[in-house]
Order: sequence, then C-alpha cells, then structure tokens
Amino acid sequence: MSDCIFCKIVKGEIPSRKAYEDDEVLAFHDIHPAAPVHVLIIPKRHIATLADAGPGDEALLGKMLALTGRIAREQGSLEGYRTIVNTGRTGGQDVYHLHVHVIGGPRPLPRMIAKE
Ligand code: 5GP
Ligand code: ZN
Repeated sequence: MSDCIFCKIVKGEIPSRKAYEDDEVLAFHDIHPAAPVHVLIIPKRHIATLADAGPGDEALLGKMLALTGRIAREQGSLEGYRTIVNTGRTGGQDVYHLHVHVIGGPRPLPRMIAKE
C-alpha cells in the first residue's frame, strides 16, 4: 500500500521511534501518546483492519498480542497496560493499517481513549 503511512514507517520512509522489530512485526511509539507508555504494534505486511484478518493471520496476531507484555515492561510499564484495537469507522480507526495500541505507564491511565 504505497499511500499507507504505517507501510511508509515499515519502509523507513517516515521516521519512527522503534520499540521492537522482527521480520514480521514492528512496534513504535505513538506520535501523540495518550499515556507515559503508548506503543503501536503493527504487522509489516499491510492488513487494513482487524476485520480483514483471516485464518492465515492467526500466528501473526498471536505474536502481536504475545509481544505486548514484553514491550510494555521494556518501556517501564510494570503494573499492567491497556490494549486497544480500533476497527473500522464504528471502531474509530484513523489509520487503516492494523495496529495494537499498548498504553501504560504510571497510573492513572486516561479513563478512556475517547473517539468521536
Ligand atoms: P487509530 O485511531 O487508528 O486507532 O490510531 C492511530 C494512531 O496512530 C494514533 O494514536 C496516532 O497518534 C498514531 N499516528 C498517526 N500517524 C502517526 C505517525 O506518523 N507516526 C506515529 N508514530 N504515530 C502516528
Ligand atoms: Zn499499510
């Protein structure tokens, strides 16, 4: 997807502050953090939304979720965190490249990451 900003981040065409990377997954700090720790975990391959994921993506999605604890801990969020996946228009998704928000840090977290 040539005009997808997260694909551009994967390719290094847009800079990002990386928190984790392997051959399938990239994690980087959100540009507008909602809390002291706010990392986005994305698949390197373009998948527009969680609703576009299928049976072939199970291992990848599991890997992304299984990384959340490690990434949160490495960023200093030691007492838990919130994971959010906004999906589609109703879900308030702004960037149409699947991403898992990992939001943590010292309490209190924002009560809710509100979306209009
Ligand atoms: P969504 O609303 O789609 O669930 O979340 C998109 C997130 O991506 C937002 O929290 C927004 O701050 C973040 N974001 C949008 N553009 C960029 C960017 O160019 N770089 C980074 N690091 N984060 C971005
Ligand atoms: Zn993309």
